[in-house]
Amino acid sequence: MNILVTGGCGFIGTNFIYFMLNESQHTLINLDKLTYAGNLENLRSVEERYAGTRYFFEHGDICDAELVPDLLKKYSIDVIVNFAAESHVDRSINEPGMFIQSNTQGTYNLLEASRQAGIKKFIQVSTDEVYGSLGPQGSFKEDSPLAPNSPYAASKASADLLCRAFFKTYHFPVTITRCSNNYGPFQFPEKLVPLTFLRARDNESIPVYGQGENIRDWIYVSDHCRGIKLCIEKAGPGSIYNFGGNAEYKNLDVIKKILDIMGKSHKLIRFVQDRPGHDLRYAMDFTLAKKDLGFEPSVKFTEGLELTINWYLNNNKWVDSIKSGDYIRFMDKWYKER
Ligand code: NAD
Repeated sequence: MNILVTGGCGFIGTNFIYFMLNESQHTLINLDKLTYAGNLENLRSVEERYAGTRYFFEHGDICDAELVPDLLKKYSIDVIVNFAAESHVDRSINEPGMFIQSNTQGTYNLLEASRQAGIKKFIQVSTDEVYGSLGPQGSFKEDSPLAPNSPYAASKASADLLCRAFFKTYHFPVTITRCSNNYGPFQFPEKLVPLTFLRARDNESIPVYGQGENIRDWIYVSDHCRGIKLCIEKAGPGSIYNFGGNAEYKNLDVIKKILDIMGKSHKLIRFVQDRPGHDLRYAMDFTLAKKDLGFEPSVKFTEGLELTINWYLNNNKWVDSIKSGDYIRFMDKWYKER
């Protein structure tokens, strides 16, 4: 099969491309706009080994209404996996417009072009954040109400609703996946795990929102990639699947675990003013994915954190090249204002 992977130069997209090249025989076409979060360097070894045979890169925007139909035709695409998105909640508070553009309008453009082209399967990679926040008990099911609280989550929920409408109205074969917080290699250091690693490595203070009480479920990125591969193979039209890692932790405890693995002092932790609209807790019920797809997370949280920290330690060059980028200026400004 020929699979169009959008946003393949970002964190999960990169991991997915490596995963699929190793675990399948499919050909992958990566369409990426190369925003600050897209890094071609991530896929250098893929380029060297597979370019022109099982891997093709196209630089472009999923919102481009001429480019997308051309690519679907050029590569005879069978399946689309849509990762492309603006993904950082803090940025969405400052600049919501670009989130609506890429995450909602972009998904619409992909859906419409795919429908016209008769694509066999469209996988929309969504997030637990579309469900909003939980209290101390319970977990989200696929039919839990959508109640997004940040512009990022709202832009993703809007895309989910468009996917639903394309299935209901046109019988277009969409599958939506909603996954909890991913961590692992190639994650941009604006997110909690790599941010903590990087600042701890350089003995810089580690900012934690509020009292660090917010709870997230954590999944190692290769487990998420396997879930998406299972959807390509088994998910029916109009299906929705939650994925989770069975690993609920307070942000503060995640930071402490990373510091412990690195042998660093907890004194590096610095509490900063909470993010507006900060959801207290997310937790996923993924019984359906277990039952229909045979999905089960395989990497335990502490083991996954160790794998991740080791990857960052062994890839200092990658980390340093990222550190000099645009995101760091944004991050510095953001935290200075708090
Ligand atoms: P990321 O920010 O690391 O990567 C996003 C990629 O999309 C980048 O390569 C970027 O250049 C590209 N991109 C952005 N806008 C584009 C556009 N208009 N056209 C083409 N390419 C564009 O994000 P990520 O963490 O890898 O997340 C990937 C997807 O998974 C997102 O849709 C996100 O909502 C979803 N998701 C992420 C998590 C998580 O924990 N990171 C959890 C659940 C779901």
